[in-house]
Amino acid sequence: MSHTANNGVLRRTKIIATLGPASDAPGAIEALIAAGVNVVRLNFSHGTKEHHAARIQAVRDAAHKLGREVGVLADLQGPKIRIEKFEEGKVLLQAGDPFTLVCSADAAPGDRNRVGMSYLGLIDDVVVGDTLLLDDGLMAVRVDAIEGVEIRTTVLTDGKLSDRKGLNRLGGGLSLGALTEKDKRDIITAAELKVDFVAVSFCRNAADMNEARALLREAGWEAALVAKIERAESIPLLGEIIDASDVVMVARGDLGVEIGDAELPGLQKKIIRETLERNKVVITATQMLQSMVESPIPTRAEVLDVANAVIDGSDAVMLSQETAAGNYPTKAVEAMVRICLGAERQFEMDTDFEAAPRNLARVDQSIAMAAMFLAEHIKVRAIIALTESGGTARYLSRFRSEVPIFALSRHAGARRRMAMMRDVFPIDFDTRGLPPREAAREAIRRLHALGHLHEGDRVMITSGDSMENQGATNTLRMLEVGPAGKAEGLGDL
Ligand code: PGA
Ligand code: MN
Repeated sequence: MSHTANNGVLRRTKIIATLGPASDAPGAIEALIAAGVNVVRLNFSHGTKEHHAARIQAVRDAAHKLGREVGVLADLQGPKIRIEKFEEGKVLLQAGDPFTLVCSADAAPGDRNRVGMSYLGLIDDVVVGDTLLLDDGLMAVRVDAIEGVEIRTTVLTDGKLSDRKGLNRLGGGLSLGALTEKDKRDIITAAELKVDFVAVSFCRNAADMNEARALLREAGWEAALVAKIERAESIPLLGEIIDASDVVMVARGDLGVEIGDAELPGLQKKIIRETLERNKVVITATQMLQSMVESPIPTRAEVLDVANAVIDGSDAVMLSQETAAGNYPTKAVEAMVRICLGAERQFEMDTDFEAAPRNLARVDQSIAMAAMFLAEHIKVRAIIALTESGGTARYLSRFRSEVPIFALSRHAGARRRMAMMRDVFPIDFDTRGLPPREAAREAIRRLHALGHLHEGDRVMITSGDSMENQGATNTLRMLEVGPAGKAEGLGDL
């Protein structure tokens, strides 16, 4: 299991890369993983089941070959509202032009005066005076009148509008539910493909997440659920959404369109803070290195954006178009690796035990907290979590400490879910049959052999009485690495 390639320095922040046409060339997926991708994202807005299956197979093969744990995330399309197609593929519009959105299933192909809509219910959701944003906010129109199935608007900005571009309402408030009929079918596909993460686009509340989880269970599969925060109305319900999810994504593309770009920096920080407080995993996504779709190097502003997302406390940063459809997918991953490492080197995270919860609800959480507290006060090289489901590793990683967490689990699914967690380095390890004390010693020998530990290093080890039960962590050990990786008890601190 290899976790490095950066001159022996472990990268703490994880990288998600979206697959697409640009990653379908032979060897391209392997190059992305070799460059440092921890989780790949399949966009279920495009592609067939066979296509997703082929990509997943390529990911699993490359991960196996390179000795990496790489998670697979299926991102559901969600109720993205789109305009239909134009006769000529695109039109040029000028501010002041009249433009009509036709909410009818048999609208003719569009022209510079009108275009059909994918969501016919839009007619009931908008009122005169609304601003509608097209193509991630590049174009805007104002609603002047609603007549029959037609929404009459005035174009507010000059620009090009092409087939199937997205539409948002400024301020949110469109009544669509989060899971469309296509999404429900795609959840079954995701279960059949045994993905590690399923992302719910445009989720509104906890009920949307619960529904997705129930559908996944009905299909016979458990995966970590990602709530994409990209609707204005989900912001006041952030707490309940986080509690109903395993992972939260700051989906800056659609969120920025609905709430206005000026609100994004504050919201990104708020979503990250609240997710960590609730012991869940958080992704910062969209347009992180956008210029690298066309250019081999990022802009300075993009470098600062990725670094700031790391400093804000993100578990993972995500690439979208950059790896799915860009000209430099591997270079984009390399840039992210470089920027994450730089931010981690230059900005120490501050483990704040004052802010940590005092009312601990779980034994594994309490052990994680004790381990972190000691690790911060008696300088240890690493914390080793002998974990079944990854739960202890998750609690440990919420502290954003300087101490790496090696998470040893025999479950491939748990290891791939842990691939998303900051500071956590999953390793395949099966201690069934060994008494806990021996398992701890064997773990140290293994990490020594992998080059992660050296003679004289002190480590903390969390474990349970048996490695067969989930959430059973109840023990904390302190050991020192002796000659040849043999564990020894600690002398004086
Ligand atoms: P998308 O989601 O790329 O699927 O639209 C992310 C976002 O909106 O930021
Ligand atoms: Mn989106």
